[in-house]
Amino acid sequence: MSTEPSEAARPGKHLIRTAPETAGLRIESLYQSLEDKVLALRPREDTSPLRRAYRFAADRHGARRRLSGEPYITHPLQVTQILADMQMDLVCLQTGLLHDVIEDTSATVEEVEREFGAEVGRCVDGVTKLRKIKMYSREERQAESIRKMLLAMVSDIRVMIVKLADRLHNMRTLAFHDRESQQRIAQETLEIYAPIAHRLGMGKIRGELEDLSFSFLEPEAHENLVREIESRRAANVRMLEDIQRHVEAKLAAESVPARVEARVKRPYSVYQKLKRQKIGIEQVYDLLGLRIITDSVRNCYAALGVIHTEWHPIPGRIKDFIAIPRQNLYQSLHTSVIGPGGQSFEVQIRTDEMHRIAEEGIAAHWKYKEGKRGQAADDQRVAWLRQLVELQKDLRDPTEFMSGLRVELYPEEVYTFTPRGKVIVLPRDATPVDFAYSIHSDVGNTCVGAKVNGRIVPLKYTLKNGDVIEILTQPGHLPSRDWLALVKTQRARNKIRHVINVLERARALEIGQGFLEREARRLGVALSRVARADMERVAGEYGCSKVEDLHAALGYGKYSARQVLHKLAPEIVPADSPKPRPAAPPADGQPAAPGEDLVIKVRGIDDLLVYRAKCCNPIRGEAITGYITRGKGVAVHSRNCPNVQKLLYQAERQIDVEWTRSARESFPVKMIVYTDDRPGMLHQLTSVLFGENCNISTLEARQDQERGGETGVVEMTVEIRDKKQLERVVSAIRRISGVRDVQRIQ
Ligand code: MN
Repeated sequence: MSTEPSEAARPGKHLIRTAPETAGLRIESLYQSLEDKVLALRPREDTSPLRRAYRFAADRHGARRRLSGEPYITHPLQVTQILADMQMDLVCLQTGLLHDVIEDTSATVEEVEREFGAEVGRCVDGVTKLRKIKMYSREERQAESIRKMLLAMVSDIRVMIVKLADRLHNMRTLAFHDRESQQRIAQETLEIYAPIAHRLGMGKIRGELEDLSFSFLEPEAHENLVREIESRRAANVRMLEDIQRHVEAKLAAESVPARVEARVKRPYSVYQKLKRQKIGIEQVYDLLGLRIITDSVRNCYAALGVIHTEWHPIPGRIKDFIAIPRQNLYQSLHTSVIGPGGQSFEVQIRTDEMHRIAEEGIAAHWKYKEGKRGQAADDQRVAWLRQLVELQKDLRDPTEFMSGLRVELYPEEVYTFTPRGKVIVLPRDATPVDFAYSIHSDVGNTCVGAKVNGRIVPLKYTLKNGDVIEILTQPGHLPSRDWLALVKTQRARNKIRHVINVLERARALEIGQGFLEREARRLGVALSRVARADMERVAGEYGCSKVEDLHAALGYGKYSARQVLHKLAPEIVPADSPKPRPAAPPADGQPAAPGEDLVIKVRGIDDLLVYRAKCCNPIRGEAITGYITRGKGVAVHSRNCPNVQKLLYQAERQIDVEWTRSARESFPVKMIVYTDDRPGMLHQLTSVLFGENCNISTLEARQDQERGGETGVVEMTVEIRDKKQLERVVSAIRRISGVRDVQRIQ
């Protein structure tokens, strides 16, 4: 394992600008070596789609150059080399070649799709979208959100593999950037991309990304550490070689087939350990070590036995990641032993398969396998993801590794940005209103519109990962009840409810005060002469701490104004003097005047302002339900009323009501009768009603032209006592010969 950053990453070294003609040759040979790599692995593969992708990208990038001075196409070519080394499939390689064409050239997604198929189109589009994400903050939580978001955004994990290869090549050539860009890009790599590689189990790419970032962010610490590690390696090289040979011989004697390698811990990894444990480099046990790669789990344990027989293990340093894999499915046996001369070293033991997964992680499962495409390969991928999720269930630390993939499998969250790049995490299907409230309740309340990625959208728009959202506000604007159906977050819902409640209370207060004043005038109570103290006393009797609360309660219909006035002026307003008054519903839906005789009451409570809803106008005997209105008292509806269903969305406002015994026993019912148009009909109708002792309040008869001139239509309002009487009246009318239909109008 190399401890050195790659050649290209050494700042300022060999900065040679290639002349155009030799550049052309170099590019062609770069492509050729790519094709050779593919053919070496899969000799029968048709490489023409690869060549087409290369030609397309070369053509589109044209004469553009990178900061290094090299033609731009060398970048996608080298990114694709990385992918070819990882043995990725053709779609992945084509995506590597085309990954920058949409963002940087005139090419469109549709064009790429047309030329290279839907799968490649989707992957290239995916990489392009990732590139558009602005990484903003250095805050740890923010970094975690961005990582989750990036993973949530890729529907095909190959998009992320290409993105990581892209980032790796950019890091290898970072020396050509100015210092500020170097810092920014290296920081972003360390915080976002290296952890993603780690999560996906891609140890090799992660290691190189970390070491490269480290070398740019802290060049001095990096250099010192590299020097220190190298001197220790050099000092122990003989010892390690001896041990290596010794282990090989012992394993062979036990017939354990194995490959033994010397390994040196990576600089960034050492650096973190020194910082985290506040120790000196001499205390890093696993700085130098061996790796034993064998063929089976059984032989891993056999090899461990061999090591422990030869050297003394350091207590507490034996780790069995085979029995208990790490969260990213890393498997290995680790032990540290005291070697010859008291020098400690670490031994890692694993199978070939475990080694491959430690280095390549998820990419190992996406690897191209000849003759094993389609279903089988997909099953393997799904199995991997499922296994990761299963493991995750047993873990305690929720911030750990798999949270990203969980997002991918169960996308419950959506990651969005403010125009300044702050990540706002919202539940799936959240809308701009949720976004606005998560910024600030003032922004939410005054929100009148939203721009997503620069375009105006309706407030019901469903937010998508990576959306940049700008909220348009208007001072003084207030939320409406409709918004409750629009929002997904509890926060937004609570804030909207709060504002609506405040507004409604203000309205109820106004109405309640109006009620009281009107009723006072009607009953002859001079409210202006009532002492404030008396008002407060009465309010207190109703359990209200302030007079305003009593006004609001009156407005909500909790108490009747008349009763309040009785308490204020008992000498003027008698306690209970029900005067028979018609219970007809007030016109235009306004509540009946307070003090109206109660034919309906709220079950268990007297003295509540009740009126029959105009829409269904229920009569005695019908099933009824009450609904506490804002400021108009209790509206009583027939249970069959279509409006009741609509009103029930606020179940807490429903209230049980019942018919009361009352002196007054009739209700106006509007009816319409269709008859044959012949003389004597009206007389027969009125006789039926007369027979039932019903008063007729209004009656209007006409001929209906639309019904063919022969039809008589009679509309009338009749005083009916109860449901039973209504049924009798209706059936009697139906029995009149020449009556075609009777309808009650609601
Ligand atoms: Mn790129």
